[in-house]
Amino acid sequence: MDLPTNLLPALINGARPGLAIGDAYTLGGGEAFDPCSPIDGASTGKCGAAAPDDVAAAVSAAHEAFLKWRTVPAPIRGQLVLRIGEMARQNKADLAKLITLEAGKTPSEAEGEVQEWIDVCDFAVGLSRQLYGLTIASERPEHQLLEQWHPLGVVGVISAFNFPCAVWAWNAMIALVCGDAIVWKPSEQTPLISLACHEMVLRAAATMDEAPAALSCVVNGGAETGAALAANEGVPLVSATGSIPMGRKVATVVGGRLGQSLLELGGNNAMIVTPSADLDLAVRGIVFAAVGTAGQRCTSLRRIIAHTSVADELVGRLTKAYGTLSIGDPTEEGVLVGPLVNQAAFNKMQTTLAAAAQQGGEVVCGGDRVTAGVPAGGYYVTPALVRMPAQSEVVLDETFAPLTYVLTYETFDEAMMLQNGVPQGLSSAIFTSDVREAGRFTGPAGSDCGIANVNIGTSGAEIGGAFGGEKQTGGGRESGSDSWKQYMRRSTTTVNYGDALPLAQGVKFDV
Ligand code: NAD
Repeated sequence: MDLPTNLLPALINGARPGLAIGDAYTLGGGEAFDPCSPIDGASTGKCGAAAPDDVAAAVSAAHEAFLKWRTVPAPIRGQLVLRIGEMARQNKADLAKLITLEAGKTPSEAEGEVQEWIDVCDFAVGLSRQLYGLTIASERPEHQLLEQWHPLGVVGVISAFNFPCAVWAWNAMIALVCGDAIVWKPSEQTPLISLACHEMVLRAAATMDEAPAALSCVVNGGAETGAALAANEGVPLVSATGSIPMGRKVATVVGGRLGQSLLELGGNNAMIVTPSADLDLAVRGIVFAAVGTAGQRCTSLRRIIAHTSVADELVGRLTKAYGTLSIGDPTEEGVLVGPLVNQAAFNKMQTTLAAAAQQGGEVVCGGDRVTAGVPAGGYYVTPALVRMPAQSEVVLDETFAPLTYVLTYETFDEAMMLQNGVPQGLSSAIFTSDVREAGRFTGPAGSDCGIANVNIGTSGAEIGGAFGGEKQTGGGRESGSDSWKQYMRRSTTTVNYGDALPLAQGVKFDV
Protein backbone atom coordinates (compact mmCIF):
# COMPACT_ATOMS: atom_id res chain seq x y z
CA MET A 1 0.00 0.00 0.00
CA ASP A 2 1.29 3.47 -0.88
CA LEU A 3 1.80 5.51 2.25
CA PRO A 4 0.13 8.94 1.97
CA THR A 5 3.34 10.67 3.08
CA ASN A 6 1.83 14.07 2.20
CA LEU A 7 -0.17 13.80 5.43
CA LEU A 8 2.77 12.84 7.62
CA PRO A 9 5.59 14.79 9.23
CA ALA A 10 9.02 14.02 7.77
CA LEU A 11 11.18 11.21 9.05
CA ILE A 12 13.84 12.13 11.60
CA ASN A 13 16.86 9.83 11.40
CA GLY A 14 14.74 7.27 9.63
CA ALA A 15 11.90 7.29 12.16
CA ARG A 16 8.58 9.12 12.59
CA PRO A 17 8.53 11.70 15.38
CA GLY A 18 7.67 10.40 18.84
CA LEU A 19 6.91 13.87 20.12
CA ALA A 20 4.93 16.68 18.52
CA ILE A 21 4.60 19.88 20.51
CA GLY A 22 2.52 21.86 18.08
CA ASP A 23 4.66 22.08 14.94
CA ALA A 24 7.91 21.19 16.74
CA TYR A 25 8.62 17.57 15.89
CA THR A 26 11.35 15.54 17.59
CA LEU A 27 12.04 11.86 18.08
CA GLY A 28 11.52 12.06 21.84
CA GLY A 29 13.78 10.62 24.50
CA GLY A 30 11.93 7.32 24.93
CA GLU A 31 12.74 4.00 23.32
CA ALA A 32 11.75 3.96 19.64
CA PHE A 33 9.31 1.23 18.60
CA ASP A 34 8.43 -0.56 15.39
CA PRO A 35 4.74 -1.35 14.97
CA CYS A 36 3.51 -3.95 12.47
CA SER A 37 0.50 -3.87 10.19
CA PRO A 38 -2.16 -6.42 11.16
CA ILE A 39 -2.59 -7.12 7.44
CA ASP A 40 0.72 -8.92 6.93
CA GLY A 41 2.78 -8.39 10.07
CA ALA A 42 5.21 -6.15 8.17
CA SER A 43 6.70 -3.10 9.87
CA THR A 44 4.83 0.14 9.28
CA GLY A 45 8.01 2.07 10.10
CA LYS A 46 9.99 2.94 13.15
CA CYS A 47 8.60 5.62 15.45
CA GLY A 48 10.27 7.60 18.22
CA ALA A 49 8.72 7.71 21.67
CA ALA A 50 8.13 10.41 24.23
CA ALA A 51 9.93 9.96 27.56
CA PRO A 52 8.27 11.19 30.79
CA ASP A 53 10.19 14.50 30.51
CA ASP A 54 8.85 14.96 26.98
CA VAL A 55 5.32 14.40 28.25
CA ALA A 56 5.89 17.09 30.88
CA ALA A 57 7.21 19.48 28.19
CA ALA A 58 4.16 18.79 26.00
CA VAL A 59 1.75 19.43 28.89
CA SER A 60 3.52 22.65 29.76
CA ALA A 61 3.43 23.92 26.14
CA ALA A 62 -0.21 22.89 25.80
CA HIS A 63 -1.00 24.79 29.00
CA GLU A 64 0.58 27.95 27.56
CA ALA A 65 -1.54 27.52 24.43
CA PHE A 66 -4.62 26.99 26.61
CA LEU A 67 -4.02 30.29 28.46
CA LYS A 68 -4.37 32.08 25.13
CA TRP A 69 -7.10 29.89 23.62
CA ARG A 70 -9.46 30.13 26.60
CA THR A 71 -9.99 33.85 25.96
CA VAL A 72 -10.83 33.38 22.27
CA PRO A 73 -14.64 33.53 21.89
CA ALA A 74 -16.13 30.07 21.53
CA PRO A 75 -17.68 30.72 18.05
CA ILE A 76 -14.18 31.71 16.82
CA ARG A 77 -12.83 28.51 18.35
CA GLY A 78 -15.52 26.79 16.33
CA GLN A 79 -13.96 28.23 13.18
CA LEU A 80 -10.80 26.25 13.90
CA VAL A 81 -12.78 23.03 14.17
CA LEU A 82 -14.66 23.94 10.98
CA ARG A 83 -11.30 24.16 9.18
CA ILE A 84 -10.08 20.92 10.76
CA GLY A 85 -13.24 19.26 9.46
CA GLU A 86 -12.48 20.59 5.98
CA MET A 87 -8.98 19.09 6.15
CA ALA A 88 -10.46 15.75 7.17
CA ARG A 89 -13.02 15.92 4.34
CA GLN A 90 -10.36 16.73 1.74
CA ASN A 91 -8.07 13.93 2.91
CA LYS A 92 -10.65 11.33 3.87
CA ALA A 93 -9.44 8.56 1.57
CA ASP A 94 -5.77 8.99 2.48
CA LEU A 95 -6.50 9.16 6.19
CA ALA A 96 -8.57 5.98 5.84
CA LYS A 97 -5.60 4.27 4.15
CA LEU A 98 -3.53 4.82 7.28
CA ILE A 99 -6.30 3.34 9.45
CA THR A 100 -6.47 0.30 7.19
CA LEU A 101 -2.70 -0.12 7.33
CA GLU A 102 -2.36 0.24 11.11
CA ALA A 103 -5.65 -1.18 12.41
CA GLY A 104 -6.51 -3.60 9.57
CA LYS A 105 -9.99 -2.17 8.87
CA THR A 106 -11.66 -2.50 5.49
CA PRO A 107 -11.59 0.75 3.46
CA SER A 108 -15.32 1.24 4.01
CA GLU A 109 -14.99 0.94 7.79
CA ALA A 110 -11.84 3.06 7.80
CA GLU A 111 -13.57 5.78 5.79
CA GLY A 112 -16.52 5.49 8.15
CA GLU A 113 -14.15 6.21 11.00
CA VAL A 114 -12.86 9.36 9.30
CA GLN A 115 -16.49 10.29 8.62
CA GLU A 116 -17.05 10.10 12.38
CA TRP A 117 -14.31 12.69 12.80
CA ILE A 118 -15.99 14.90 10.17
CA ASP A 119 -19.39 14.44 11.82
CA VAL A 120 -18.07 15.36 15.25
CA CYS A 121 -16.46 18.48 13.73
CA ASP A 122 -19.85 19.54 12.38
CA PHE A 123 -21.42 18.85 15.76
CA ALA A 124 -18.69 20.78 17.61
CA VAL A 125 -18.96 23.80 15.30
CA GLY A 126 -22.68 24.09 16.10
CA LEU A 127 -21.92 23.55 19.76
CA SER A 128 -19.46 26.44 19.75
CA ARG A 129 -22.48 28.74 19.75
CA GLN A 130 -24.43 26.69 22.27
CA LEU A 131 -22.23 26.26 25.33
CA TYR A 132 -25.19 27.44 27.34
CA GLY A 133 -25.15 28.33 30.99
CA LEU A 134 -28.21 28.97 33.14
CA THR A 135 -29.90 31.82 34.89
CA ILE A 136 -31.40 30.58 38.13
CA ALA A 137 -34.08 32.25 40.25
CA SER A 138 -32.35 33.77 43.27
CA GLU A 139 -34.09 33.70 46.65
CA ARG A 140 -32.72 37.18 47.39
CA PRO A 141 -34.18 40.45 46.02
CA GLU A 142 -32.14 42.29 43.38
CA HIS A 143 -29.78 39.35 42.93
CA GLN A 144 -28.89 37.37 39.85
CA LEU A 145 -27.82 33.75 40.13
CA LEU A 146 -25.93 32.46 37.11
CA GLU A 147 -24.14 29.35 35.99
CA GLN A 148 -21.42 29.69 33.37
CA TRP A 149 -19.16 27.18 31.67
CA HIS A 150 -15.48 28.04 31.26
CA PRO A 151 -12.59 26.25 29.53
CA LEU A 152 -11.00 23.57 31.71
CA GLY A 153 -7.33 23.27 30.73
CA VAL A 154 -5.16 20.60 29.13
CA VAL A 155 -7.08 17.44 28.27
CA GLY A 156 -5.02 14.25 28.14
CA VAL A 157 -6.35 11.74 25.61
CA ILE A 158 -5.20 8.11 25.76
CA SER A 159 -6.63 6.06 22.90
CA ALA A 160 -6.97 2.42 21.83
CA PHE A 161 -5.81 0.80 18.59
CA ASN A 162 -9.22 -0.09 17.23
CA PHE A 163 -10.58 3.45 16.76
CA PRO A 164 -7.29 5.25 16.26
CA CYS A 165 -8.82 8.41 14.80
CA ALA A 166 -12.44 8.64 15.98
CA VAL A 167 -11.78 8.32 19.72
CA TRP A 168 -9.31 11.19 19.61
CA ALA A 169 -11.73 13.22 17.47
CA TRP A 170 -14.65 12.71 19.87
CA ASN A 171 -12.52 14.18 22.62
CA ALA A 172 -10.33 16.67 20.82
CA MET A 173 -12.91 18.39 18.59
CA ILE A 174 -15.26 18.98 21.51
CA ALA A 175 -12.40 20.00 23.83
CA LEU A 176 -11.13 22.53 21.26
CA VAL A 177 -14.45 24.37 21.03
CA CYS A 178 -14.65 24.24 24.82
CA GLY A 179 -11.37 26.22 24.91
CA ASP A 180 -9.00 23.43 25.96
CA ALA A 181 -5.67 22.16 24.61
CA ILE A 182 -4.96 18.47 23.95
CA VAL A 183 -2.05 16.17 24.65
CA TRP A 184 -2.71 12.87 22.91
CA LYS A 185 -1.12 9.53 23.71
CA PRO A 186 -2.25 7.28 20.84
CA SER A 187 -2.01 3.51 20.79
CA GLU A 188 1.51 2.28 20.07
CA GLN A 189 -0.10 0.28 17.25
CA THR A 190 -1.22 3.40 15.38
CA PRO A 191 1.33 6.24 15.46
CA LEU A 192 0.96 7.16 11.77
CA ILE A 193 -2.73 8.00 11.77
CA SER A 194 -2.25 10.01 14.96
CA LEU A 195 0.55 12.04 13.40
CA ALA A 196 -1.60 12.61 10.31
CA CYS A 197 -4.57 13.76 12.43
CA HIS A 198 -2.27 16.12 14.31
CA GLU A 199 -0.93 17.46 10.99
CA MET A 200 -4.49 18.28 9.92
CA VAL A 201 -5.00 20.28 13.12
CA LEU A 202 -1.69 22.09 12.62
CA ARG A 203 -2.54 23.01 9.03
CA ALA A 204 -5.92 24.34 10.12
CA ALA A 205 -4.42 26.24 13.07
CA ALA A 206 -1.82 27.84 10.78
CA THR A 207 -4.66 29.66 9.00
CA MET A 208 -5.84 31.38 12.20
CA ASP A 209 -3.85 33.91 14.26
CA GLU A 210 -5.94 33.07 17.31
CA ALA A 211 -4.96 29.39 17.35
CA PRO A 212 -1.58 28.50 18.87
CA ALA A 213 -0.01 25.39 17.34
CA ALA A 214 0.58 23.77 20.74
CA LEU A 215 -3.17 23.39 21.24
CA SER A 216 -2.42 19.96 19.80
CA CYS A 217 0.45 17.82 21.07
CA VAL A 218 1.17 14.13 20.47
CA VAL A 219 3.23 11.90 22.73
CA ASN A 220 3.79 8.56 21.05
CA GLY A 221 4.87 5.51 23.00
CA GLY A 222 3.58 2.70 25.16
CA ALA A 223 2.03 2.30 28.60
CA GLU A 224 4.77 4.27 30.37
CA THR A 225 4.13 7.30 28.16
CA GLY A 226 0.41 7.07 28.95
CA ALA A 227 1.17 6.64 32.64
CA ALA A 228 3.29 9.82 32.62
CA LEU A 229 0.40 11.73 31.06
CA ALA A 230 -2.10 10.34 33.60
CA ALA A 231 0.19 11.33 36.48
CA ASN A 232 0.79 14.90 35.30
CA GLU A 233 -0.78 17.46 37.68
CA GLY A 234 -1.12 19.90 34.79
CA VAL A 235 -3.82 17.73 33.18
CA PRO A 236 -7.17 18.32 34.90
CA LEU A 237 -8.97 15.74 32.74
CA VAL A 238 -7.63 12.45 31.40
CA SER A 239 -9.88 10.75 28.87
CA ALA A 240 -8.73 7.14 28.53
CA THR A 241 -10.09 4.57 26.12
CA GLY A 242 -8.96 0.95 26.21
CA SER A 243 -9.11 -2.22 28.26
CA ILE A 244 -10.52 -2.44 31.77
CA PRO A 245 -7.12 -3.21 33.37
CA MET A 246 -5.68 -0.08 31.71
CA GLY A 247 -8.63 2.01 32.94
CA ARG A 248 -8.20 0.72 36.48
CA LYS A 249 -4.57 1.87 36.49
CA VAL A 250 -5.31 5.26 34.95
CA ALA A 251 -8.26 5.89 37.29
CA THR A 252 -6.10 5.06 40.31
CA VAL A 253 -3.32 7.43 39.25
CA VAL A 254 -5.64 10.28 38.22
CA GLY A 255 -7.85 9.77 41.30
CA GLY A 256 -4.76 9.77 43.50
CA ARG A 257 -4.03 13.34 42.48
CA LEU A 258 -7.77 14.21 42.59
CA GLY A 259 -7.92 14.85 38.85
CA GLN A 260 -10.87 13.85 36.71
CA SER A 261 -10.89 10.82 34.48
CA LEU A 262 -13.29 10.00 31.68
CA LEU A 263 -13.13 6.26 31.05
CA GLU A 264 -14.29 4.37 27.95
CA LEU A 265 -13.36 0.76 28.63
CA GLY A 266 -14.22 -2.74 27.50
CA GLY A 267 -17.71 -4.05 26.81
CA ASN A 268 -19.48 -7.42 26.90
CA ASN A 269 -22.36 -6.55 24.67
CA ALA A 270 -25.45 -8.71 24.36
CA MET A 271 -28.48 -8.96 22.11
CA ILE A 272 -31.74 -10.51 23.24
CA VAL A 273 -33.65 -12.21 20.42
CA THR A 274 -37.26 -12.69 21.44
CA PRO A 275 -39.97 -14.97 19.99
CA SER A 276 -41.49 -12.02 18.10
CA ALA A 277 -38.17 -10.87 16.58
CA ASP A 278 -37.88 -10.30 12.83
CA LEU A 279 -35.21 -12.95 12.30
CA ASP A 280 -34.11 -11.61 8.91
CA LEU A 281 -33.29 -8.31 10.54
CA ALA A 282 -31.77 -9.97 13.59
CA VAL A 283 -29.41 -12.07 11.48
CA ARG A 284 -28.17 -9.00 9.62
CA GLY A 285 -27.82 -7.06 12.86
CA ILE A 286 -25.92 -9.91 14.50
CA VAL A 287 -23.51 -10.56 11.65
CA PHE A 288 -22.40 -6.92 11.35
CA ALA A 289 -22.12 -6.48 15.12
CA ALA A 290 -20.31 -9.78 15.72
CA VAL A 291 -17.86 -9.97 12.83
CA GLY A 292 -17.51 -6.37 11.58
CA THR A 293 -14.00 -5.01 12.29
CA ALA A 294 -13.18 -8.69 12.98
CA GLY A 295 -15.00 -8.42 16.32
CA GLN A 296 -12.59 -5.71 17.47
CA ARG A 297 -15.02 -2.96 18.38
CA CYS A 298 -15.74 -2.08 21.97
CA THR A 299 -19.40 -2.49 20.99
CA SER A 300 -18.93 -5.80 19.11
CA LEU A 301 -21.57 -8.39 19.87
CA ARG A 302 -20.22 -10.89 22.41
CA ARG A 303 -23.43 -12.59 23.58
CA ILE A 304 -26.67 -13.62 21.88
CA ILE A 305 -29.45 -14.34 24.35
CA ALA A 306 -32.06 -16.15 22.25
CA HIS A 307 -35.47 -17.43 23.32
CA THR A 308 -35.52 -21.23 23.25
CA SER A 309 -38.27 -21.13 20.60
CA VAL A 310 -36.05 -19.29 18.08
CA ALA A 311 -32.51 -20.28 19.12
CA ASP A 312 -32.05 -23.27 16.80
CA GLU A 313 -33.39 -21.49 13.76
CA LEU A 314 -31.32 -18.39 14.53
CA VAL A 315 -28.12 -20.40 14.98
CA GLY A 316 -28.82 -22.26 11.72
CA ARG A 317 -29.29 -19.03 9.79
CA LEU A 318 -26.22 -17.47 11.36
CA THR A 319 -24.07 -20.49 10.53
CA LYS A 320 -25.19 -20.17 6.94
CA ALA A 321 -24.47 -16.43 6.86
CA TYR A 322 -21.04 -16.94 8.49
CA GLY A 323 -20.25 -19.46 5.74
CA THR A 324 -20.58 -16.76 3.08
CA LEU A 325 -18.27 -14.21 4.72
CA SER A 326 -15.25 -13.21 2.76
CA ILE A 327 -12.25 -13.14 5.09
CA GLY A 328 -8.85 -11.78 4.12
CA ASP A 329 -6.74 -8.79 3.18
CA PRO A 330 -9.02 -5.84 3.96
CA THR A 331 -7.71 -3.90 0.97
CA GLU A 332 -9.15 -6.51 -1.39
CA GLU A 333 -12.50 -5.80 -2.98
CA GLY A 334 -15.41 -7.54 -1.27
CA VAL A 335 -13.58 -8.56 1.92
CA LEU A 336 -15.76 -8.05 4.99
CA VAL A 337 -13.62 -9.57 7.74
CA GLY A 338 -10.02 -8.42 8.04
CA PRO A 339 -7.26 -9.55 10.39
CA LEU A 340 -6.92 -9.65 14.15
CA VAL A 341 -4.55 -6.98 15.38
CA ASN A 342 -1.70 -9.37 16.20
CA GLN A 343 -0.65 -12.84 17.32
CA ALA A 344 -1.48 -12.09 20.97
CA ALA A 345 -5.10 -11.42 19.97
CA PHE A 346 -5.18 -14.74 18.07
CA ASN A 347 -3.71 -16.63 21.03
CA LYS A 348 -6.24 -15.05 23.39
CA MET A 349 -9.08 -16.15 21.09
CA GLN A 350 -7.72 -19.73 21.05
CA THR A 351 -7.32 -19.97 24.84
CA THR A 352 -10.80 -18.53 25.29
CA LEU A 353 -12.27 -21.10 22.89
CA ALA A 354 -10.53 -23.88 24.85
CA ALA A 355 -11.85 -22.49 28.15
CA ALA A 356 -15.36 -22.24 26.69
CA ALA A 357 -15.21 -25.89 25.60
CA GLN A 358 -14.10 -26.85 29.10
CA GLN A 359 -17.09 -25.01 30.53
CA GLY A 360 -19.45 -27.01 28.35
CA GLY A 361 -19.45 -24.83 25.26
CA GLU A 362 -20.08 -26.24 21.80
CA VAL A 363 -18.37 -24.51 18.90
CA VAL A 364 -21.07 -24.21 16.25
CA CYS A 365 -18.75 -22.73 13.65
CA GLY A 366 -15.51 -20.85 13.21
CA GLY A 367 -12.53 -20.18 15.43
CA ASP A 368 -9.89 -21.48 13.02
CA ARG A 369 -6.94 -19.61 11.61
CA VAL A 370 -7.21 -18.86 7.89
CA THR A 371 -3.91 -19.17 6.07
CA ALA A 372 -4.92 -19.82 2.46
CA GLY A 373 -5.42 -16.82 0.21
CA VAL A 374 -4.49 -14.28 2.89
CA PRO A 375 -1.23 -12.39 3.44
CA ALA A 376 1.26 -14.48 5.39
CA GLY A 377 2.14 -12.87 8.70
CA GLY A 378 -1.41 -11.65 9.34
CA TYR A 379 -3.74 -13.41 11.80
CA TYR A 380 -7.01 -14.13 10.05
CA VAL A 381 -9.76 -16.24 11.65
CA THR A 382 -13.17 -17.59 10.84
CA PRO A 383 -15.63 -15.86 13.19
CA ALA A 384 -16.80 -18.21 15.93
CA LEU A 385 -20.23 -18.94 17.35
CA VAL A 386 -20.21 -20.94 20.57
CA ARG A 387 -23.33 -22.28 22.28
CA MET A 388 -22.94 -22.14 26.06
CA PRO A 389 -25.03 -24.05 28.62
CA ALA A 390 -24.78 -21.12 31.05
CA GLN A 391 -23.25 -17.69 31.47
CA SER A 392 -20.13 -19.22 33.01
CA GLU A 393 -16.82 -17.55 33.87
CA VAL A 394 -15.44 -17.40 30.34
CA VAL A 395 -18.50 -15.47 29.13
CA LEU A 396 -17.97 -12.76 31.73
CA ASP A 397 -14.74 -11.53 30.10
CA GLU A 398 -14.33 -9.50 26.93
CA THR A 399 -12.35 -11.40 24.26
CA PHE A 400 -11.37 -8.89 21.59
CA ALA A 401 -11.99 -11.11 18.56
CA PRO A 402 -14.94 -12.37 16.47
CA LEU A 403 -16.21 -14.79 19.11
CA THR A 404 -19.88 -14.70 20.07
CA TYR A 405 -21.58 -16.88 22.66
CA VAL A 406 -25.15 -18.09 22.26
CA LEU A 407 -27.23 -18.49 25.42
CA THR A 408 -30.92 -19.32 25.67
CA TYR A 409 -33.75 -18.17 27.91
CA GLU A 410 -37.36 -19.05 28.72
CA THR A 411 -38.74 -15.97 30.46
CA PHE A 412 -38.11 -12.31 29.79
CA ASP A 413 -36.86 -11.82 33.37
CA GLU A 414 -34.31 -14.54 32.78
CA ALA A 415 -33.14 -12.80 29.60
CA MET A 416 -32.71 -9.53 31.49
CA MET A 417 -30.77 -11.25 34.26
CA LEU A 418 -28.36 -12.71 31.70
CA GLN A 419 -28.10 -9.40 29.83
CA ASN A 420 -27.20 -7.47 32.99
CA GLY A 421 -25.28 -10.27 34.70
CA VAL A 422 -21.80 -9.30 33.53
CA PRO A 423 -19.30 -6.81 34.99
CA GLN A 424 -19.31 -4.55 31.89
CA GLY A 425 -22.11 -2.22 30.75
CA LEU A 426 -21.41 -0.71 27.35
CA SER A 427 -23.88 -1.69 24.62
CA SER A 428 -26.98 -3.87 24.41
CA ALA A 429 -29.82 -4.62 22.01
CA ILE A 430 -33.14 -6.37 21.78
CA PHE A 431 -34.87 -7.68 18.67
CA THR A 432 -38.59 -7.76 19.29
CA SER A 433 -41.89 -6.73 17.75
CA ASP A 434 -43.50 -6.54 21.18
CA VAL A 435 -43.68 -2.93 22.34
CA ARG A 436 -43.92 -4.01 25.97
CA GLU A 437 -40.67 -5.96 25.78
CA ALA A 438 -38.97 -3.03 24.06
CA GLY A 439 -40.27 -0.67 26.76
CA ARG A 440 -39.09 -2.92 29.58
CA PHE A 441 -35.68 -3.34 27.95
CA THR A 442 -35.10 0.40 27.52
CA GLY A 443 -36.78 1.41 30.82
CA PRO A 444 -35.30 1.98 34.27
CA ALA A 445 -35.40 -1.71 35.25
CA GLY A 446 -34.15 -2.84 31.86
CA SER A 447 -30.71 -2.89 30.28
CA ASP A 448 -28.06 -1.46 32.61
CA CYS A 449 -25.82 -0.41 29.69
CA GLY A 450 -24.97 3.05 28.38
CA ILE A 451 -26.42 2.01 25.02
CA ALA A 452 -29.75 0.13 24.75
CA ASN A 453 -30.91 -0.45 21.16
CA VAL A 454 -34.15 -1.86 19.76
CA ASN A 455 -34.08 -3.77 16.46
CA ILE A 456 -30.56 -2.71 15.59
CA GLY A 457 -27.27 -4.29 16.62
CA THR A 458 -24.92 -3.28 19.42
CA SER A 459 -22.28 -1.54 17.30
CA GLY A 460 -22.21 1.43 14.96
CA ALA A 461 -23.27 4.38 17.12
CA GLU A 462 -23.92 7.86 15.71
CA ILE A 463 -21.95 10.79 17.10
CA GLY A 464 -25.05 12.81 18.13
CA GLY A 465 -25.72 10.68 21.21
CA ALA A 466 -23.53 10.43 24.29
CA PHE A 467 -21.32 7.36 23.90
CA GLY A 468 -20.11 5.21 26.79
CA GLY A 469 -21.08 2.65 29.36
CA GLU A 470 -21.64 1.77 32.99
CA LYS A 471 -20.03 -0.53 35.56
CA GLN A 472 -16.52 -1.66 34.59
CA THR A 473 -16.88 0.07 31.21
CA GLY A 474 -16.00 3.12 33.28
CA GLY A 475 -19.03 5.44 33.31
CA GLY A 476 -17.64 7.98 30.81
CA ARG A 477 -19.68 9.63 28.07
CA GLU A 478 -18.14 11.15 24.96
CA SER A 479 -19.10 12.73 21.69
CA GLY A 480 -22.63 14.14 21.39
CA SER A 481 -25.49 15.23 23.67
CA ASP A 482 -24.14 17.18 26.67
CA SER A 483 -20.80 15.35 26.89
CA TRP A 484 -19.12 18.72 26.30
CA LYS A 485 -19.73 19.67 29.92
CA GLN A 486 -16.92 17.36 31.02
CA TYR A 487 -14.42 19.44 29.06
CA MET A 488 -15.40 22.67 30.85
CA ARG A 489 -15.54 23.88 34.42
CA ARG A 490 -18.77 25.16 35.91
CA SER A 491 -18.79 28.51 37.64
CA THR A 492 -21.71 29.66 39.79
CA THR A 493 -21.97 33.43 40.12
CA THR A 494 -24.24 35.58 42.29
CA VAL A 495 -24.55 39.26 41.37
CA ASN A 496 -26.08 41.73 43.83
CA TYR A 497 -27.43 44.78 42.00
CA GLY A 498 -29.26 46.21 45.04
CA ASP A 499 -28.24 48.44 47.96
CA ALA A 500 -28.71 45.85 50.70
CA LEU A 501 -26.74 42.71 51.50
CA PRO A 502 -29.31 40.04 52.40
CA LEU A 503 -27.83 36.67 53.33
CA ALA A 504 -29.06 33.38 51.94
CA GLN A 505 -31.38 31.24 54.05
CA GLY A 506 -32.44 34.42 55.92
CA VAL A 507 -29.35 34.33 58.13
CA LYS A 508 -28.92 37.50 60.25
CA PHE A 509 -25.41 38.78 60.75
CA ASP A 510 -25.66 42.51 61.37
CA VAL A 511 -22.43 44.33 62.20
P1 NAD B 1 -5.18 -1.17 25.78
O1 NAD B 1 -5.81 -1.03 27.12
O2 NAD B 1 -4.14 -2.20 25.60
O3 NAD B 1 -4.48 0.24 25.37
C1 NAD B 1 -5.23 1.42 25.28
C2 NAD B 1 -4.30 2.60 25.47
O4 NAD B 1 -3.88 2.67 26.84
C3 NAD B 1 -3.02 2.54 24.64
O5 NAD B 1 -2.73 3.82 24.16
C4 NAD B 1 -1.99 2.09 25.66
O6 NAD B 1 -0.67 2.44 25.35
C5 NAD B 1 -2.46 2.82 26.90
N1 NAD B 1 -2.03 2.27 28.18
C6 NAD B 1 -1.82 0.97 28.51
N2 NAD B 1 -1.47 0.87 29.81
C7 NAD B 1 -1.47 2.13 30.31
C8 NAD B 1 -1.21 2.68 31.60
N3 NAD B 1 -0.86 1.92 32.64
N4 NAD B 1 -1.31 4.01 31.78
C9 NAD B 1 -1.69 4.81 30.74
N5 NAD B 1 -1.93 4.35 29.50
C10 NAD B 1 -1.83 3.02 29.28
O7 NAD B 1 -6.37 -1.34 24.73
P2 NAD B 1 -6.29 -1.73 23.18
O8 NAD B 1 -5.89 -3.14 23.03
O9 NAD B 1 -5.55 -0.67 22.43
O10 NAD B 1 -7.84 -1.56 22.77
C11 NAD B 1 -8.81 -2.54 22.97
C12 NAD B 1 -9.62 -2.27 24.22
O11 NAD B 1 -10.16 -0.95 24.19
C13 NAD B 1 -10.84 -3.19 24.33
O12 NAD B 1 -10.99 -3.58 25.67
C14 NAD B 1 -11.99 -2.30 23.89
O13 NAD B 1 -13.25 -2.69 24.36
C15 NAD B 1 -11.56 -0.98 24.45
N6 NAD B 1 -12.22 0.14 23.77
C16 NAD B 1 -13.23 0.78 24.41
C17 NAD B 1 -13.91 1.82 23.77
C18 NAD B 1 -15.05 2.52 24.43
O14 NAD B 1 -15.44 3.57 23.95
N7 NAD B 1 -15.62 2.02 25.52
C19 NAD B 1 -13.52 2.20 22.48
C20 NAD B 1 -12.47 1.53 21.86
C21 NAD B 1 -11.82 0.50 22.52
